[in-house]
Amino acid sequence: MVLERFKDVLHRCYKCGHCRTTGPAMFYTNCPSYDKFKFETYTAGGKINLAKAVFDKKLDWSDRMIDILFACPTCGNCETNCVYPLHENVLGIIEAARAEAVDAGVTLPGNQRTFGEHLGKEHNPYIEPHSKRLDWLPKDINLPNESETVYFVGCTSAYRQKMLAQDTVKVFNKAGVDFTIMKDEWCCSSPLLRTGQWETDYVSAPQIAQHNIEEAKKIGANKIVTTCAGCYRTWKKDYLESYGWLLNSKHEFEVLHTTELLETMIKNGEIELPNEINMRVTYHDPCHLGRHVGLYDSPRNVIREIPGIELVEMRRTRENSWCCGSGGGVKAGFSDWAVELAYDRVREAEKLEVDALVSACPFCWRNLDDAIKQNNSKLKMYDVIQLVRQSMGI
Ligand code: SF4
Ligand code: SF4
Repeated sequence: MVLERFKDVLHRCYKCGHCRTTGPAMFYTNCPSYDKFKFETYTAGGKINLAKAVFDKKLDWSDRMIDILFACPTCGNCETNCVYPLHENVLGIIEAARAEAVDAGVTLPGNQRTFGEHLGKEHNPYIEPHSKRLDWLPKDINLPNESETVYFVGCTSAYRQKMLAQDTVKVFNKAGVDFTIMKDEWCCSSPLLRTGQWETDYVSAPQIAQHNIEEAKKIGANKIVTTCAGCYRTWKKDYLESYGWLLNSKHEFEVLHTTELLETMIKNGEIELPNEINMRVTYHDPCHLGRHVGLYDSPRNVIREIPGIELVEMRRTRENSWCCGSGGGVKAGFSDWAVELAYDRVREAEKLEVDALVSACPFCWRNLDDAIKQNNSKLKMYDVIQLVRQSMGI
């Protein structure tokens, strides 16, 4: 039983409810799942107590329990707000309970159940052909076969928000970064890790992690740069301390988010931002970048360097940020709710009378933009890399 790993802490949930309404979010609900479904078991404490009951063999999985366990974007607000000696394990327990349910042969919600087949056959969750993974690459950009720096593109930028991958390589190229990409990059494995599908009939999370690490080594890399918050967490945290035991994926690469690299290069004068962008904007912290890994300042520092931009903060910001709704399998499993959650965030931004919502993750970009378009909001959606490219005048 995977939950065996947590047997010494499973009983430490005191059912206090801090993971849904207290802590820094004193005056409002901080759990999107509880906010939507308004039933205690949807909170982290509720999910942990479900997991304990299954572990103690007092409950068998039911469709209702699966719905509750998987209706959660793994935003991590619960982990941030849990004040008891369990707190660093909250998300780990939720994901382990999911793996337990998958092992028991349950049917997962919506398209979550297709992740294994899609990642096994085409190495991306969108079932796009692997042979077309590099189609986004502009024809006039030639990349070397080997480099110490690998830009790990990720599935969403490779197949959906291609403009973000294109802007990233244009900016790196113009700034003279010596980098390349993997010719045989596979999905980082985040969709499988987050939904407990660690072993599937088609591929396993360890196979994927080990493949990507081997590919990076072949290129001669010592640094991995990602534009995607999900890939960033997976390379930086899951391949190492969170799931190193499962994935056998220890590595020594330095893992950077694009905004960290941009921040350093701007500071060193290697990137110049001559063009003004006259906009009032607010920044949405991707959960997998902020709460999960603690990267809050680099994206903001880059935005502040762009002439003409005024950056203002939403009420729920940094470690208290409201999730965009797309992570943890929610976009695939509960697609309408994912956009509903994103629209909460869009409305929060609208209250600030900003021109644009800015984020630093293609998956957040996609879901927030879906909410903007479906609700005819006047907001524009940007990723930090798009603003940098525009200000560089390329
Ligand atoms: S990860 Fe987010 S949605 Fe899931 S239980 Fe925790 S606070 Fe609620
Ligand atoms: S998970 Fe933590 S914050 Fe939530 S009810 Fe349990 S002890 Fe309280």
